[in-house]
Amino acid sequence: MADAGSWVVVGLDNGGTSNNATILDASGRFLVDRLVETPSLVREGPEIAVEQLVLALQNVLDVTGTAAERVRAVGLDTPGPASANGVISSKGATNFVDPGWYGYDFRGALEARLGLPVVYNNDGNAAALYTHHVRFGDDAWDNSSVSAIVGTGLGGGVIESGQVVKGAAGMAGELGHVHIPMHGLLEEGQPLPACNCGFSGDAESVASLTGIERNLLPYWLSRYPDHELARVEPIGKAAKLLRGYAENGDELALKVFEQQAKAIGRLFTIAANFTDPDAYFVGGGVVEAAPHFREWFLETVREHTLLREEQQRVATVALVEDLDMAGARGAALAALSEIVGR
Ligand SMILES: [Zn+2]
Repeated sequence: MADAGSWVVVGLDNGGTSNNATILDASGRFLVDRLVETPSLVREGPEIAVEQLVLALQNVLDVTGTAAERVRAVGLDTPGPASANGVISSKGATNFVDPGWYGYDFRGALEARLGLPVVYNNDGNAAALYTHHVRFGDDAWDNSSVSAIVGTGLGGGVIESGQVVKGAAGMAGELGHVHIPMHGLLEEGQPLPACNCGFSGDAESVASLTGIERNLLPYWLSRYPDHELARVEPIGKAAKLLRGYAENGDELALKVFEQQAKAIGRLFTIAANFTDPDAYFVGGGVVEAAPHFREWFLETVREHTLLREEQQRVATVALVEDLDMAGARGAALAALSEIVGR
């Protein structure tokens, strides 16, 4: 049990359908070991969504029997794009379609409503921070890492001395939009993959579900026209089925995931020459796959992460587990770190 008088921080992970909440005490211990979810109602606009976050906070206090007076700060994470300070993009975003969201200061609004400091991170950065702390524990503040999390897009973040690198405009750690060498990754005649951000040949254009749907699968189906997936419509549905095929050793599916693993390895090679981190983490759907496929994928990433001998001796390339709670927990860790003044 925590000291009744000691303070806590609350982590709130704001998603498209749910808010997930957690509590972290001053000693760095989580008081919740599962998802504590409530509806986020983000589609109904910012005013309602802010109230839902207040309810999520109240709910997790109730569930854990924590007095509201003990809360010293709140960590909030949301999907991007948003500024480092939690202002949603003026063009909106996948999760924030109501026009009320355009350019909305989400962090500031929650802070004003709660009367408590609110520390903001995007969900990729929050997950990267949590992963870093799980891996390094008490040594987190002395280590650095880079996380690439493959989902609809390619998220993640860069952690230096236990803290998220945010950058001058809050756009650091946008790993998905780093250009990677395509020579030797693409097949002869394979079109240069395009990304939603407007770039071609960046990491996300290959290593994301969107990249599979838009770039890799259309190409590979043209090479395997008799494949069962060629008859699945729309192609987004086929893209989601692909992992199951890969687990069963399907040739086309393995070609696609091999290109993804190569792309992540090349991205890590760039990271090795930028921040030379202690650890490189791979997360996302692939982690939930069958062990033999997961290990093959990670091994392929390793093979294409070109580290110097000195780096190989000290760095690790590893999978991220348990991403369910990563957003809320990472958000809470960021709030704690702000208070401790690290
Ligand atoms: Zn991009």
